[in-house]
Amino acid sequence: MAGLMQGKRGLVMGVANNRSIAYGIAKALHAQGAEMAFTYQGEALHRRVQPIAAEFGSELVLPCDVTDPDAMDAVFNVLKSQWGKLDFLVHAIGFSNKEELEGRYVDTTPGNFSLTMNISVFSLTALAKRAEAMMDAGGSILTLTYYGAEKVLPNYNVMGVAKAALEASVRYLASDLGPQGIRVNAISAGPIKTLAASGISDLREMLKWNEENAPLRKNVSIDEVGNSALYLLSDLASGVTGEIHYVDSGYNIIGMKALPPKGG
Ligand code: NAD
Repeated sequence: MAGLMQGKRGLVMGVANNRSIAYGIAKALHAQGAEMAFTYQGEALHRRVQPIAAEFGSELVLPCDVTDPDAMDAVFNVLKSQWGKLDFLVHAIGFSNKEELEGRYVDTTPGNFSLTMNISVFSLTALAKRAEAMMDAGGSILTLTYYGAEKVLPNYNVMGVAKAALEASVRYLASDLGPQGIRVNAISAGPIKTLAASGISDLREMLKWNEENAPLRKNVSIDEVGNSALYLLSDLASGVTGEIHYVDSGYNIIGMKALPPKGG
């Protein structure tokens, strides 16, 4: 099926490089005809994001640190003047200080707690509010979460608490924006080696554990997340909102993996 996103325009936030989940999503959307704008956080990433945007036929590459409300306003002002309307928004943004993505959650500092919640959680709401003003004809908003929202995983710590709040935000936003035809969903992706994930202590062990214990016996790729994102962002998912959709090789359904037969 080609052209699922033909005529649709959207903002993709969170591309850092070609290993980013947002890159996998943009790739899948581009293949189906989407027109996209991209944001980057900080000049160092500008140089990386510019050629990626060009790869997807986009010249709209805008600075945006989500801790800065003026920067968010500026992005939406440009989109309004260039496009008038917006069909979709991809929020693939998360951050916590690396020093607190190891050790005990109980040692989280108030400063990093607020920073993590502001960047990784509140930004979705702040951006959804701005997107709503450009989605008169309805739209689709997607964020990225992780199983650490529901169960304790070593070192994920304050990020797990943030993802739990993010998942609750998805439901509240879906309820608020549903009457205007705006859908809000999240993909709960299995672990993938990206820049952000590299900040989590023992990531290698986590990847190995998932690969060995998930029903599909493999880790997911950014292309697999991208294809599921395509479904949620396209009209194929017109009846779906407020959902947390797992793209994790089935890891979340397992209580205990089946043991090999005795004496086998
Ligand atoms: P990534 O490092 O490629 O992307 C993270 C992005 O967040 C970067 O582009 C970074 O610039 C952006 N960001 C951080 N602070 C920001 C700020 N203040 N303003 C604007 N942007 C900011 O890593 P990724 O793994 O692709 O992460 C994307 C999302 O996917 C995150 O929310 C992450 O928690 C989530 N996720 C990742 C995994 C995984 O294993 N990699 C699994 C599940 C969910």
